[in-house]
Amino acid sequence: TGPDADALVIFGVTGDLTRKYLMPALYHLVERGEAPARIVGVARSGWDTDTLRRRAREAIVEHDTALDGRIDDAVFDDLAGRLTLVSGDLDEHETYTRLGEALRGSSFTAHYLAVPPALFVEVARALADSGLAHDSRLVVEKPLGDDLASARRLRHGLLACFPEERLYLVDHFLGEESVRNLPLTRFGNGLLEPLWSRAHIDNVQITMAEDFGVADRGSFYDAAGAIRDVFQNHLLQLFALLAMEPPLSTDPAAIEDEKLRVLRATRTLVPEDVVRGRYDGYLDVEGVDPRSTTETFFALRMWVDAPRWAGVPFYVRSGKHLPLTSWEVVVEFARPPIDLYPGPADLVRFQLEPWSGATIETSLNAPGAEGDSPVPIAIGADIGRRLGRGHEAYENVLRGAVVGDPGRFVRFDVVEESWRIVDPIVDLTSVPETYERGTYGPVSSLELPGSSGWHPPADAIRPHGID
Ligand code: NAP
Repeated sequence: TGPDADALVIFGVTGDLTRKYLMPALYHLVERGEAPARIVGVARSGWDTDTLRRRAREAIVEHDTALDGRIDDAVFDDLAGRLTLVSGDLDEHETYTRLGEALRGSSFTAHYLAVPPALFVEVARALADSGLAHDSRLVVEKPLGDDLASARRLRHGLLACFPEERLYLVDHFLGEESVRNLPLTRFGNGLLEPLWSRAHIDNVQITMAEDFGVADRGSFYDAAGAIRDVFQNHLLQLFALLAMEPPLSTDPAAIEDEKLRVLRATRTLVPEDVVRGRYDGYLDVEGVDPRSTTETFFALRMWVDAPRWAGVPFYVRSGKHLPLTSWEVVVEFARPPIDLYPGPADLVRFQLEPWSGATIETSLNAPGAEGDSPVPIAIGADIGRRLGRGHEAYENVLRGAVVGDPGRFVRFDVVEESWRIVDPIVDLTSVPETYERGTYGPVSSLELPGSSGWHPPADAIRPHGID
C-alpha cells in the first residue's frame, strides 16, 4: 500500500472513459468521503473549469444507472468544488508547467491516464521530466500492449519514469466485486477448498457473452479483436484467480505471485486450441476493413501443467451478438467413482454479470417418482438481492488509485505472462467462421468441450433455482 493521494489528475478528462465510468465513480467517492481534495482534468479541447463541471454533471446523470437520474445536489456541488481544468496538449511542455501550478500545495498525486495508449509513455516521461512524478503514482488503463513485444516495451518505457510500486495497472475486472469474491469462495470455504483440483473437477468453463455488437467502435474493435479485447486481460485474470494455488497471505503481492505462478504453468496457446468466429454482418460495420480477419468470438481450450490441474481442461469463450449478456464460471465436478445414481454432472456456478450469484447445481429425486429419477436443482443466492448492491468496478479502481491499494491492479510480470500465453493467436490471418447473430458462435465451437458440452448460461436456471 502507498500513501493517500490528496490530488487526482485525469489525463483525458473530455473522453469516453471519463464520461462513462470515472465521473460516476468520483461522485460516489465524494458521497463516501473518499475523494481527494483536488481533482484536475487535462485535455486539449477548449473547455474551462465551468464546462468541466457542467459536463461532469451531465455524465453522472446519464451514466450512473443506480442514481436513476436523481443526483444529490449537495454531493455534486462538493465534487464540482474539487474540479479544475488544465487545458493543453500533452505533447507540450507548458501543459505540465500549468499542471504543476494547479497541483501546488498538494502532497501526493494519483495521475490517471485515460488517454490513447500511444500517449502512455510520452506522458509518463513528461511527468518525470517536469518533476511531477515525485510523490505520485501513475495509473495506466488498458490496453497494456498489443502483444508480448509491445507490452515489454511499454513496461520498459514506464519503469524508466516511475518505480514499479508506484505504477498501478488497471484491469477493471479486478474492481468487480463478484470477481473479488472468487479467492474468498475458494480459499475461505471449507466445503469447496478441498475439492478444488483434478481429483474432483472434470473441467472448468468460463463464458463472457454479450448480446450486442461493436456498435460505433468499429475501427477500434477491428484493430483489436475479441482475444485482445477481453481474453488476454480480463478473462486470464479470472482464470488465474480460479486456478492459482493458495496465496501465502491476502496481501496483494502474495496474490500476484500466485497468479504469476499459475500463468507460468499454463501452456502457450496455438491456433489448434481456438475456434474464432465473427457475426454475420460484421464486415458492414462502419470502420471495419472489408478484408478484416478480426474475430468477434472465440472459444478455446487451455491446459495447466501443474499437479493440481494436470489433465483438466479450462474452456473459455466470449463473443458479441450472442443470445444474452452473461459472464459466468461453471465448474463441472467428476461423477462419483461408482455411479450408482447416474445423472447430470454436479456444477458450481459463479455468476458475475449482469447479476452476481453463486449456485451449486445437483440432482434430487423427482417428487412422486417411482424408483430413482434424478432432476436437476440449483441451491444458491442472488448476492445483490440478499446482501445489497456493491460498488461499481470503477469506484473500486479509483478508490484503490487514490488510497494506494494495489489489490485492485495487476502487476507487470503478470501482464507479460498473459501475453506470452496468447501471443501466437492474437494476429491469426485465417478468416473466422461466420455465425448467426443470437447464437453461441460457430457450430464447431459448440463441440470444443467434447461430450460434456457447454453448460447453458445461468439465466436458464435462475427462475426456478434461487432467490
Ligand atoms: P477517447 O474518448 O478518445 O478520449 C481520449 C482523451 O484523451 C480525450 O479526453 C482527449 O481529449 C485526450 N487526448 C488525446 N490526445 C491528447 C493530447 N495530445 N493532449 C491532451 N489530451 C489528449 O478515449 P477513451 O475511450 O476515453 O479511452 C481512454 C483510455 O481508456 C484508452 O487507453 C482506452 O483504451 C481506455 N479504456 C477505455 C474504455 C472505454 O469504455 N472508453 C474502457 C476501458 C479502457 P481532447 O481530444 O479534448 O484533447
